[in-house]
Parts: sequence; C-alpha cells; structure tokens
Amino acid sequence: MKTFDRRIAVAALGAFAMLGTASVPAQAQDYPNRAITMIVPFAAGGPTDVVARLVGENMAKTLGQPIIIENVVGAGGTTGSIRAARAANDGYTVIMGHMGTHAASVSTYPKLAYDPRTDFEPIALINGAAIVILGRKDFPPKDLKEFVAYVKANETKLNQAHAGVGSVSYTTCEMLNGVLGVKPVGVPFQGTGPAMNALVAGQVDYLCDQITNVVPQVQGGTIKAYAVATPERNPSLPDTPTTTEGGLPAYQASAWNALFAPKGTDPAIVAKLNAAAAKALDDEKVIARMKELGNDIPKPAERTPAALGKLVKDEVDKWAKYLKPVG
Ligand code: ASP
Repeated sequence: MKTFDRRIAVAALGAFAMLGTASVPAQAQDYPNRAITMIVPFAAGGPTDVVARLVGENMAKTLGQPIIIENVVGAGGTTGSIRAARAANDGYTVIMGHMGTHAASVSTYPKLAYDPRTDFEPIALINGAAIVILGRKDFPPKDLKEFVAYVKANETKLNQAHAGVGSVSYTTCEMLNGVLGVKPVGVPFQGTGPAMNALVAGQVDYLCDQITNVVPQVQGGTIKAYAVATPERNPSLPDTPTTTEGGLPAYQASAWNALFAPKGTDPAIVAKLNAAAAKALDDEKVIARMKELGNDIPKPAERTPAALGKLVKDEVDKWAKYLKPVG
C-alpha cells in the first residue's frame, strides 16, 4: 500500500472508532434487541428464583425480548454475583440479588470479590419478605416458647439449614441463634429451595426462610411455622404468630430482593429496566401472586435506582453490626 493510501486507511479507521463512540446512545435507544440474561444466584424453586421468574416474565413483555433466568449457584449467592459484576455492562446481563448477596455478604466474606455498593448499578427494589422460623414436621416443640427452650437445651445436636454463608437464611438465622445464645450445626444448601426440600424430608431440624418459599408447605402441614419475625402477622399465614406474640420480641427480621446491573451500564438502559420492573410491580397478576406468597411490594418512591443504592449502603452498615467474617 502506498503511503497516501495508508493515510486514508488510518483516517478511515479513526472515523470508524469515533462512530463507535457516537453509537453508544443509539445502543440504548434500540435496547433491548436480543434476549436478556437474569442471573439468579441460588437454586431453582427458592424465593429468589420464584420472584425473578414472576417479575422477569412481566418485564420481558414490556421490553419485547425474552428474559432468560440463569441459576448460578454457590457460596451463599456470591458466585452468581461475581459473575454478574464481571459481565459486559451492556444491559444484557442483570442479577436478582438480595439482602444477603448485596449487603450482608460484605461482612461475612472479608475478601469478597465485589462491593455491592460500587460494582453494580442499582435498578429497582422488587419485594420485601418476612422471615419465618420453621421446623421439620415432627420437630418436638409445639410453639415458639417450646422452640426456644428446646433449641437451647439441644443446640449441639441440632441441624440448621441455610443457603450458604452470607445468604439471607444464614444471616437471619445467625441473628436468631445470637438472640438465643446457641450454636447449632449449620447445613449449607445451594438455595432455600433445596433447603426446604430437606426440611420437608426431615433431614434438617430448622430453617429461617423468606416467606416467599413457605406458605404452601405450612398450609399443607409438611413443616411447622413457629413465628413470623415481623411486627404484624402476615395475611398469607394468618395462624402463625409474630415473634412478639410468641415471646421473642428481640427477633425481628425481613429480607428483600432487588435487581442490579454491572457497574457502568448506560443510565438510559438502567432507566428502561427500572421502568419495566416498576410496571411489573403494578401488574394485577404479579401483585396477586406476590401477595399470595406473603411478599410486600415496594411503594413507587422505594423503587427508584437511587432509593435502592441508599438501601444497599444502609443494609451493608446494619449487617456489619451483627455478623462476623467467616473463614
Ligand atoms: N433467598 C434464599 C436465602 O438467601 C436463597 C434462595 O433464594 O434460594 O436464604
């Protein structure tokens, strides 16, 4: 190639590169033009998975593209969260995180490979879910008072299921065990879907789970619900007393799920995802199912990316007071 030709080629390449930069807003404009992956950092059938599928299906209709749920399990949800943090920040990978993966895990893992406060763009808070204290069907205690006495008397012999260090079931049961002053044997699962199966099968003794995973089992009598750890009873479990009614007012716990995108995702794309999530939370069918599952739906002011960013910061600080690093 002659020098002259080469110069033209270089100039053309430069123009192409500029075009590339200039095309970013256009990318946001026609977003999404292909399927979006929503990472669920726990096993299928658990609370995070159920909520992701319910809300994801509705968001897909609004966005005009499929949302594919990918269960990336392990290490209390931090494996999937690392995958999401490192994914391309083009809006085609998002994660349904929760109070564990995007707050509490900062305190349980001293070398956590991401910081939920800085490595993600918050999209929207999706739900609030009360924590319910559960036992296997033939666990001897009949009510919360007996549960407290029994667990204190038998702590070393008892198996308490959870979804991995840093997960909601881990952190909220750590809190319960702290209030009771007990240290049972922790049995980790890849989500509370499988943990619930083990409880139903009588392979573990107790579990602190989000109400999302609980209602049909309690109604069917396959497990025992000792108390719901919120100030009020939950309409979907009307016969289950609160921890205060049961004599353990010091134990109050609830959790949340929320959507996040990798850091640096275009704000216009985040806004589209936020609008689709907010629309899903206003959909009659979604609301009815969320209520059936005992979940709270955040108010519009709580659904903004900024509100979620603040929630994450506050919750990281809150959990730092209760949890110690593990390992
Ligand atoms: N939310 C559960 C937990 O952290 C896990 C799951 O969603 O399966 O305990």
